[in-house]
Amino acid sequence: MTSRPVPLVAGNWKMYKTAAEAGDFCRRLRKAWPGNAGVEVAVFPPYTALAAAVTELAGSGIQVGAQNLHPAASGAFTGEISAGMLLTLGCTGVIIGHSERRHVLGESDDFCAEKVVSASQAGLVPVFCVGETLAERQGGKTEAVVSRQLSGVLKQLQEPGRLVVAYEPVWAIGTGITATPALAQEVHRFIRKTLAGVWGSKGEAVRILYGGSVKPENARELLSKPEVNGALVGGASLEVEPFVSIVKAAI
Ligand code: PEP
Repeated sequence: MTSRPVPLVAGNWKMYKTAAEAGDFCRRLRKAWPGNAGVEVAVFPPYTALAAAVTELAGSGIQVGAQNLHPAASGAFTGEISAGMLLTLGCTGVIIGHSERRHVLGESDDFCAEKVVSASQAGLVPVFCVGETLAERQGGKTEAVVSRQLSGVLKQLQEPGRLVVAYEPVWAIGTGITATPALAQEVHRFIRKTLAGVWGSKGEAVRILYGGSVKPENARELLSKPEVNGALVGGASLEVEPFVSIVKAAI
């Protein structure tokens, strides 16, 4: 077993904040969070606010990423953005396979896997989301679903590189219902075993984040679990104070 990786706390802003609001948030974030080697921090604004976030966070150590990309390098894909475009803008990562894209926009496991490969090959950190719906959990299908979601990535990526996996049970996203720390640990352990089964010690080193109604009040307990290597935070990442409080809970 390798030593625990440095945790990552990432804020998924979804479709919130204009460029001006993002710039203001980032100025305040870098004042409130001067940095600490014990944790990495990243924000994922909407496309239109990426440039403002990159500018305001330059030199702070806080990373900026996008919430999606298209797997092709370029082409006739109206409305889409490639990994190369994100890199040129100064992004270092990208969220892939968020449940809102899988369930609302109908993205398949294969398409998500293609995106992970494209991001990884371009040098972006893919934050690859997996997680079951309430009906799947109640039907005892959590492991089967997570395993299916991971399988394309495990087949297509020769090694994980800087891949990050985020376990986000769909029933816990934006609902105020959080997985118990024990439940999160159990699924993270399963994901860890699955990754290590294919990638060996490199799979052991992949960071697995928990996401789903993480708040300052529950963050410390969730993040204390050995297989929870950070958090993907939605609602609570939209204000500086709760976000920084979650960041601190990861150290
Ligand atoms: C998310 O959107 O990735 C998320 C985890 O949202 P929330 O923290 O609001 O549940």
